[in-house]
Amino acid sequence: MARYTGPVCKLCRREGEKLFLKGERCFSPKCGFDKRAYAPGEHGKARMARGDRVSDYSRQLRAKQKARRVYGVLERQFRRYFSVAIRTKGLTGLNLLHTLETRLDNVVYRMGFAESRSQARQLVNHGHFMVNNIRADIPSMLMKAGDIITVRESSRGLVYFKELPDLAAKRNCALWLDRDLKSLSGRVLRIPERSEIDGNLNEQLIVEYYSR
Ligand code: SF4
Repeated sequence: MARYTGPVCKLCRREGEKLFLKGERCFSPKCGFDKRAYAPGEHGKARMARGDRVSDYSRQLRAKQKARRVYGVLERQFRRYFSVAIRTKGLTGLNLLHTLETRLDNVVYRMGFAESRSQARQLVNHGHFMVNNIRADIPSMLMKAGDIITVRESSRGLVYFKELPDLAAKRNCALWLDRDLKSLSGRVLRIPERSEIDGNLNEQLIVEYYSR
C-alpha cells in the first residue's frame, strides 16, 4: 500500500500543532514545528498573523487531514475506511477511529515496539512480526480482541530487537493491549474505548466532511 513520502514536519506545521510523527525527534529542539510554528508555503506566516477566518468546510477538512496524517493513511484508503464505518452498526465516527486504531502498525506502535507509527509500519513491512503465529507483513491488517502479535524468531538476533526490551520499557503500552517485553509479544485485550484514543481528533467533523 502506498504511503506519504514527502517532508513529515510540514504536516505538523500545516495542521498547526505537533502530531508527533517522528518519535524522539518530536521531543527534541530539532522539532520542525517548534522552530517554525506556522503553516508552510509563501503565505503561511502572513496568514497566521492576519488570523484569517476559518470556514466550517476548512475545519472539517483539517480534522480529516489530521486524522489521516496521524495514522499515515492515504485518502483513498481513508475514504474506504469511512464507507465501511458508515455501514457498520454504531457511531460512524467511532467506528472509523476503531478501524484506524486496530491497524497492525498502530497496534505495534501502541505496544511500544516502535517509536512512531511510521517506524512500526516499516518493521511490519519488513516482515518482523507474526500475528497468531503466521507471518504478517501488511501494516493495514486489522486486529481483533484475542490476536497475539510476536516478533519473529529470525528477527530477534537483530540489534534493534535485542535492544527493544529496554527501549520499550520506557514507553507506555495502551490499556487495551497487553505486552510481554521478555518474549517480545503482545495481545489485543479488547477494542479501545473512545477515551483511550487520541482525544485531539474530532471524528464528528470528519463525518461532516464526508457527509457534505
Ligand atoms: Fe511534528 Fe515531530 Fe516533526 Fe515536530 S519533529 S514537526 S512533532 S513530526
